[in-house]
Amino acid sequence: MFLFPAEDEPLRQRLMRRFFRSSSARFWLLASCLPALTVLRLGVIWQPASSPADLPAPLEPLALAPEPQRLTRTLGADDSIYQSLKRQPLEESQIAELIRAITPVFNLRSDSRPLDRYTLTLDPEGVVQRFEYLSQREPERPLVVERQVGRLVGRRELLPLEKRTEAIEVRIIDNLSNALADAGEGAELTDRIADEIFGSAIDFTQDLRRGDRLGIVCEKYYQNGRFIRYGEVLLARYTGEKVSQLGVSFQNGAGPKHYYDAQGNSLNRRFINYPLPFRGITSRFNTSRFHPILKKSRPHLGTDYAAGHGTMVWATASGRVVHAGWSGGYGNMVEIDHGNGYRSRYGHLSRVSVRQGQRVDQKTPVGLVGATGLATGPHLHYELIKNGRHLNPERANRDLQGEPLQKTLLAQYAAHRDQLLGLLAGSTHLAVHAGPAAGAVE
Ligand SMILES: [Zn+2]
Repeated sequence: MFLFPAEDEPLRQRLMRRFFRSSSARFWLLASCLPALTVLRLGVIWQPASSPADLPAPLEPLALAPEPQRLTRTLGADDSIYQSLKRQPLEESQIAELIRAITPVFNLRSDSRPLDRYTLTLDPEGVVQRFEYLSQREPERPLVVERQVGRLVGRRELLPLEKRTEAIEVRIIDNLSNALADAGEGAELTDRIADEIFGSAIDFTQDLRRGDRLGIVCEKYYQNGRFIRYGEVLLARYTGEKVSQLGVSFQNGAGPKHYYDAQGNSLNRRFINYPLPFRGITSRFNTSRFHPILKKSRPHLGTDYAAGHGTMVWATASGRVVHAGWSGGYGNMVEIDHGNGYRSRYGHLSRVSVRQGQRVDQKTPVGLVGATGLATGPHLHYELIKNGRHLNPERANRDLQGEPLQKTLLAQYAAHRDQLLGLLAGSTHLAVHAGPAAGAVE
């Protein structure tokens, strides 16, 4: 919306601003210049108010009351808030003031993403009055910057969200993530199902069969009908040709919530299944193996995961780093003591990102995949040790289940489980793949 012919505006603005800010005797100056100014204003911008305010604004470029200008913008790929603001009709000092108000409440680098949207409100002088930023990272917490008593102040709002409990049922065609995506669900749900709930019970790279079914009862948060994020997954039920498993979230007495199977056995596990995203297993745990480089029989006391050079490797569980650096055939190696006699080792790393003595949590990055030491190509050599004895990392998890439910809670657990299963049974939408596979649905 242009209130003045575009080429006149900067000059006029500058004159006006300088005029009004220049003197401490602003009042007298104003008073003495008022007649001349009025003539100027009449000559330049006066438009008779011929239409009521609620009718569409006249098409003429000139209007009586200067109105704020609202600009809505979307961040492009490789865009930043700063770069996007630079393209708006803003003076550099205004951008700087805005950034100063944003930074205490919002991380410009990590909180913003491409396709985030913002609305910028400018007064007729081009001064920022308000800035509202909707981040996809935390959609329920928009960033709002407002001018208060002349100063821009930033804050995060908290939108009221509506929580709905939904039942979802999908049929597996090729993999879990496609089945959930076809049902309109996000990748986050796939991760929760595959890792958090069934990570110790189902190997989704090997146990899936076409036609298997997955039922989920989960909480979803909405704002004005728009999906914002997932809440708790209350229940997941996998019914398959090779493997079937139920997982129900339940609190075991005073402890934290965990997932339990139909009988109340814990699905929680001590170690994550895979300490990195990998392409395949190139060498399994084997106590008598022919070593490709040493050309002799030598046990392989861990699992080799093939992954690209530089892939991030995570700690399998919380613990303390007892070695971080070169170790002969392991190359760059990290060893973590997890307590209770358990240790894990991560070999052939191209880079080590922890130091000896450091405390780590489950999934803390410990280094990057490489081919240092005795390695034919980039991979992670991963070992799990209990009291000095090597365990098969692919199997160890299954033997390391958490505490079962307290006996006194079993009846309560069964009632909760059956109530959730009832929600699943009543689910009206069975999402299936479109295309040829749909014909196979019962
Ligand atoms: Zn190895």
